[in-house]
Parts: sequence; structure tokens; C-alpha cells
Amino acid sequence: MRLLLAEDEKRLAELVARALRAEGYAVHVVHDGETALAELSAHGYDAAVLDVGLPERDGLAVSAELRQRNVRVPILMLTARDSIAERVAGLDAGADDYLVKPFEFAELFARVRALLRRQPAVLPAVLGVADLALDTRSHVVTRAGRELSLTPKEYTMLQYLVRHAGRVVTRAELVEHVWDDRQDPGSNAIDVYVGRLRRKVDRDAAVPLIHTRRGTGYIVADLRDAIRGGAPSAD
Ligand code: CA
Repeated sequence: MRLLLAEDEKRLAELVARALRAEGYAVHVVHDGETALAELSAHGYDAAVLDVGLPERDGLAVSAELRQRNVRVPILMLTARDSIAERVAGLDAGADDYLVKPFEFAELFARVRALLRRQPAVLPAVLGVADLALDTRSHVVTRAGRELSLTPKEYTMLQYLVRHAGRVVTRAELVEHVWDDRQDPGSNAIDVYVGRLRRKVDRDAAVPLIHTRRGTGYIVADLRDAIRGGAPSAD
């Protein structure tokens, strides 16, 4: 899950970004509204956290302009005070939710998770392939009913792969959606991460679900379905 955070108070931006990264999100930070608008218009973010009080163009104007351009990214607006007028203006400008500063990280995380679930196309409550199930509310992952212990990064990687189950996910795509510019892991490290994830998901399981497509990337699929359907199998 790739998030854009637009916050001009740099120390606060860094704290919030660090907290979100620890939850497993890839976070791109910008400090003004003009850059936020350009980023969100040009790249596919899964959600945006916009401060209302931003230089260049405030959060309300960014939100309104995005909706005008038909950019449907879910938006959480950060408002400076508990002002009804500001909240109403935010929602009217196309934001999906708001959070009043100062806030607790636990509430921010919950609102971001809710935002990502709000559009079922972005993230349904439960994702699954064969006997693998991911609960996107609690981040609990089970395989054949048994709970797996994943790090936040492993969870995010698996969620991305399962969201796109049945098609090849390239390494570049994983890097873009799971890591961010602060954490570029390098493509060898991706293999190591996926290897570790695969051991947790597929060990002790009757059917492997995470497959490598040499030279391209990875695919999550129950290949028994593909074989039954007559499609070629992965290596
Ligand atoms: Ca501000």
C-alpha cells in the first residue's frame, strides 16, 4: 500500500511517516499542496493523507482539484482544530474522512485502514487465495485456519501479491508499492524478502501459493486451478 503524506511541518511529517512505515506502508512525503497535487495526479497512490494548512495550495484546494480531474484516490484530511466549518469544507472538497490534530497514531492507523477498505476495489475486508486468508482490518493472516506470524513488511508484501493474485507482479511493482524512496531495498533484497515470506506461507502447506517467474517477478495463485483450467503452469 503506497500512501502520499502532505504535511508542511517537517518534524511532524517525519514522525507520521515513520509510524506509517512501521505499519508496513510505503510512504511518500511532500511538504506543499502543489507537489501533492502533481504526485497524486501522476502516480497511482492507494490513499492520501493531506494536511489542510499547506503552502502553495491548501489541502482543500488539492482535494477539490483532484476530484475535478477525476482522480479517485481516497483522502484523509488533517484539520488543525476541531472546527465544524473546516471538516465540512474538507468533506465538500471531496475528502473521504478527516482527523483532528493532535491525533493518536492508533486512530490515524485505524482511519487509514478504513479508508483503504471504503472502496472495495481498493481493499475488501478479507482477501484470500485457496486456504490463505488476510483480514485487512486486523492484519491477521491464516493458512488453513492456522495463524501466521508476519512482520508488517511481510504482511504488506503478501497483501499486494494477493490483491493481484493470478497475475505476475514484477519486482519493480513490489518496490513501488511496498517500499518507498527512503527504504529502497534493491532487487536482490526483494528475493530474500519473498523467500522469507514464502517459507512462512507455504511451509507445512499442501499446495504452494507463492511462485517465482524467473526474470520477471512473482505470482500468487493456486496453480491446481490453472492446471484444471488448461492454462500453462508457472515454474
Ligand atoms: Ca500545516
